[in-house]
Amino acid sequence: MELPGYVLELMQKLNGAGFQAWVVGGCVRDSLLCKTPKDWDLCTDAKPAETLSVFADFRLLTQGLKHGTVTVLSDSPVEITTFRTEGGYADHRHPGWVAFVPDIRLDLARRDFTVNAMAYCPALGFADPFGGQRDLQEKILRAVGDPETRFQEDGLRILRGARFCAAYDLTPESATFAAMVSQRQLLDGLSRERVYSELCKFLLAAKVEDLERFAPILTQVLPELAPTVGFLQQNPHHVFDVYGHTAHVVAACPAELPLRWAALLHDVGKPQCFHVDEKGVGHFPGHAQVGAELAASILARLRAPKAMTEQVATLVRYHSTCRQAKGKTVRRLLRKLGETTLRQLLALDKADGWGKQPGESREVSSEIREFEEELERILAEAPCLTLRDLAINGRDLQAMGILPGKVMGSLLAFLLEQVEAGAVENEKETLLQIAKSRQTEL
Ligand code: ATP
Ligand code: MG
Repeated sequence: MELPGYVLELMQKLNGAGFQAWVVGGCVRDSLLCKTPKDWDLCTDAKPAETLSVFADFRLLTQGLKHGTVTVLSDSPVEITTFRTEGGYADHRHPGWVAFVPDIRLDLARRDFTVNAMAYCPALGFADPFGGQRDLQEKILRAVGDPETRFQEDGLRILRGARFCAAYDLTPESATFAAMVSQRQLLDGLSRERVYSELCKFLLAAKVEDLERFAPILTQVLPELAPTVGFLQQNPHHVFDVYGHTAHVVAACPAELPLRWAALLHDVGKPQCFHVDEKGVGHFPGHAQVGAELAASILARLRAPKAMTEQVATLVRYHSTCRQAKGKTVRRLLRKLGETTLRQLLALDKADGWGKQPGESREVSSEIREFEEELERILAEAPCLTLRDLAINGRDLQAMGILPGKVMGSLLAFLLEQVEAGAVENEKETLLQIAKSRQTEL
C-alpha cells in the first residue's frame, strides 16, 4: 500500500517516540480498491497527551481530545486517535464511555463493518482480524461482531451500510442484511441532518438493485414512499410498479444531487392520484403537483438546505413538462425556470422514459428530442429572456416620471415581449422612445 509522504512522516515521528502508528479505516479500504482516500486517519497506542507532545511543533486541533483524537495540520489534516474501545450507547447513536486500550485489535473491533475495520503500517503490514480484505475482494458488507447488537449500539450504521453497498458495489451478508432490516426502527431516533447526509451519499451512488434491496430502509426514513412499493400502475407504458420504476429512474439519472432526489420523489404523489378510466387503464392526474408538495415537506423535515428543497420540488412539479412543451412554450418555460433547471428537467425526463421498461435502451422519445433541439436553438440566439436582460430598467423609467408599481411593471413586461418577439431592438434609446409613447396611452 502506498502512503503519502506527509502521512509517513507523522507515522515515523510516532515510531521514533516508541509508539505504534497505523493508517486505519476508510483510507485502507479505499487504497485496497485503488481509489484515492478522502483523508488519512491514523491510530496509535500513544495516549492523547503523548500524541500532543510528539507533535508539539505542529499546528494542532484538539476538539476531539476527550475521545482520543488529535488532528495534526500537515499537508492535509490528519486525525490521530488513540486505540480505544467504547460502550454504553444509551441513545442508540453515541457511546456513553470510551476507554483507551493498548491493542489495535480492540480498536478495530469497535468499527462498524469488516471492510472498515482494517489497519496498515509499512513495518507490520495489515491488521485485519475480521477478514476485511477477503470481504472487500468478494464484495461483501459484513458487520463486525453480532450485527443486531452493532446496529442497536448505533442506528446510523444501518444507513452507512446501505451507502457502502451502493458506493462500493457490495452485497450485504445475510445476517447483516437481516439485522439492517429488523433494526430499521432505530432510524427514527437519528438526527435528521445525519439521515439526510447519508441519504445523499447513498442516492449519488445507488443502482437499481440498491434501491430495491434497501426499500424497507428507505421507506423507514421516507414513509411517504411506502405506498409506492408494489403499487401497480395498470398502464401499458409501465412494466414496473411505482417504486420499481422510481428505482430505475434514479439509477438512470446523472449523479447530481437535486436530480437524484427529484428522481426518487418524482412519482411519490402517484398513489394518492390514482384513477382508472373506463378501459381499465390507470392514470395519475395531478400527481406532479401533489408530489412536489410531498417532496418539499420531506426535504424540509430532513433539514435539507432550503435551495435544495425548492429545486427538488420544482423538478418534481415540472417533471413531465418537457415532453409536452412545443415552440413558444419552451421559451416561456426557459424564462420561468431558467436554463439550469430546464436542462435538469430534460435529464430527468429522459431517465423517466428509460425507467418505464427493463433493459439498457437509451432511446429518447421524439417529443423530448424536439424539446431539446428547440431549447438549444433558443439559447444559441442568446435571447433576451428576463427583465434583467432588457436594455432599460425601472430606474430609467422612474427618470421619466413613472413610479414603481403596476404601470411600470406592465410597461417593462410589454417591452420585454416586443424585444423577444423580435419586433424591436434591445437598445436603450429605442426602448425609451417606445416607453414614452406607450406611457401616454396608459
Ligand atoms: P467516508 O469517509 O468515505 O465517508 P469512512 O469509512 O472513512 O467513509 P468515516 O466517517 O470517515 O467513514 O469514519 C472513519 C472510520 O471510523 C470508518 O472507516 C470506521 O472504521 C469508523 N466509523 C465511522 N463511523 C462509525 C460508526 N458509526 N460506527 C462504527 N465505526 C465507525
Ligand atoms: Mg473517512
